[in-house]
Amino acid sequence: MKYDWVIVGAGLTGATLAERLAVERGARVLVVERRRHLAGNAYDHYDEKGVLVHRYGPHIFHTRDHAVFEYLSRFTTWRPYIHKVMAEIQGQQVPLPFNLNTLQALYPKRLAERLEQKLVQRFGHGARVPILKLMATDDPDLRELAEFVYQNVFEGYTRKQWGLAPEELDPSVTGRVPVVVARDDRYFTDPYQALPADGYTRMVERMLDHPRIHLLLGTEFKEVEGSLRFKRLIYTGPIDAFFDYLHGPLPYRSLRFTWQNLRAVRVQPVAVINYPNEHRFTRTTEYKHLTGQESPFTAIAYEYPEAHEPGKNDPYYPIPREENRERYQRYREEASKLRGVFFAGRLADYRYYNMDQAVARALKLYRELP
Ligand code: FAD
Ligand code: UDP
Repeated sequence: MKYDWVIVGAGLTGATLAERLAVERGARVLVVERRRHLAGNAYDHYDEKGVLVHRYGPHIFHTRDHAVFEYLSRFTTWRPYIHKVMAEIQGQQVPLPFNLNTLQALYPKRLAERLEQKLVQRFGHGARVPILKLMATDDPDLRELAEFVYQNVFEGYTRKQWGLAPEELDPSVTGRVPVVVARDDRYFTDPYQALPADGYTRMVERMLDHPRIHLLLGTEFKEVEGSLRFKRLIYTGPIDAFFDYLHGPLPYRSLRFTWQNLRAVRVQPVAVINYPNEHRFTRTTEYKHLTGQESPFTAIAYEYPEAHEPGKNDPYYPIPREENRERYQRYREEASKLRGVFFAGRLADYRYYNMDQAVARALKLYRELP
């Protein structure tokens, strides 16, 4: 069969584009996916004890983009969920992002009150201050607080997660988890925060359930490219791999997970506990908090970051820093020479997208396609 479009990757980017092209334009679409399942890194499934887990790390949908929320709501209902994270700091589990409650838990009462006043005076109540900005303050007390938060929350975690110090990365990376000048323990503040009621995989299945969309799972694109007949291509995998690493590999971070399945209703106070300093893993996730599932069993994942090695492990995170952006630009220039080939997604755009940003990017590309 001759396809109008081949889409490489069945993650949220590929699924959104396939759905739009088939439904709105009546196009015949083939989605080619290397993994044996849909939904990319958002994939969820039931483990051997029947507990719903996210295979590639905890995925919490959150957005302020009404159009994206409305679009995905065509394929799922939602379970409202406000994400809470705690960090183990000096042997105590305290709320994260670091906020006025965290300050109170870790500092003597008087000093906590003085620092709170200074934070409010300097930044205003409710401010969300990136750690690298707090480090630059000239008030000696706030400087000392910044030093404490840097060392106890950011430095160890960031070195484990990225193999780099916080200031070696784009400030937007640590800026995702600011110091919050309020008693607000929420990890995200977006107006829409929820999980798809039947899971991400089911949602993506519904997106792709269309007679004009065909799926080829467990298939590496390069291995079938020559035998496929199609007019245009959308590629959502790593852009450096597409060009056979012509300008050298783009670094991505990968993750390794170990799993525990326990006969217990719940073992953690919240879904995610971060370990900025202790242990080699960065965080543990207890999935039942996210899904609300009732079961006599519970599943916990331990997350160990590692370098991505093509062919050995999967790329999970682009590494946002100047030298990588420059290399990415060289691939972008190659991409702009091609006709009928389009790139989008967290791996192809080399951008640290959240799910809503991946969907927004796909919807934008869709509107621009010939
Ligand atoms: P992907 O999901 O990576 O999909 C790309 C697909 O292309 C993959 O399935 C891959 O197998 C396939 N592919 C690549 N190359 C080829 C090839 N040559 N041939 C065939 N197939 C190929 N976002 C949030 O909003 N909230 C969260 O809480 C959140 N948590 C996250 C936690 C972790 C640990 C990670 C890694 C990401 C998290 N994200 C979160 C981000 C989210 O996963 C992404 O925004 C989203 O999945 C991007 O979708 P995508 O389709 O662009 O990429
Ligand atoms: N971060 C940190 N300590 C923490 C949480 C986050 O240093 O306890 C930094 C770290 O660099 C991390 C980044 O902030 O990679 C973004 O954190 P987020 O929780 O958004 O990461 P993700 O869920 O995308 O892996």
